[in-house]
Amino acid sequence: MCSVGGPMDVELAERLKGKKYRCNDCGTTFEAVGKHPVCPSCQSENVTLV
Ligand SMILES: [Zn+2]
Repeated sequence: MCSVGGPMDVELAERLKGKKYRCNDCGTTFEAVGKHPVCPSCQSENVTLV
């Protein structure tokens, strides 16, 4: 269930299942998957689902 096939599979999964989040620290909006999204800009975990 949690296996990762490779970079291409990860990209596909993100496109299919990505949710939008906004970083509460720097205001960046981004798409991420998983239970613990991390801001790509400042690596903060203080993010909100939008
Ligand atoms: Zn941030």
